[in-house]
Amino acid sequence: MFEMMLERHFSSAHHLLNYVGKCATPHGHNYKVRVYVQMNTLDKANIALDFKDMKAVLDPIIDRFDHQDLNTLPDFAGESPSAEFMARLIFNELRESLPDVSKVCIYETDTQAVCYFLPYTI
Ligand SMILES: [Zn+2]
Repeated sequence: MFEMMLERHFSSAHHLLNYVGKCATPHGHNYKVRVYVQMNTLDKANIALDFKDMKAVLDPIIDRFDHQDLNTLPDFAGESPSAEFMARLIFNELRESLPDVSKVCIYETDTQAVCYFLPYTI
């Protein structure tokens, strides 16, 4: 099995809804996103998936969030724009054109991340 990982960065403001604490106040993050794709076959060039194809799908999503106040975007209308919500949102959108996406991780800092994935089923 092969697993590809593509990392991207963006900067956004947000504040959490229905939350008591510092994160309820508007603040910013330099987010890091890691997208993982698992495949078990190689093409004639012996690559599983071209990174440029991963970038073509992920970058338009990241561009929607970069230098924005997440709370004002339609993607998060009425929702608390947590890293968890964002990871699931990106995973589900990627899956439409990248069916082998296996995990999306959102880092709010270098030491704090949340990942969304579908548990393996047998
Ligand atoms: Zn935050």
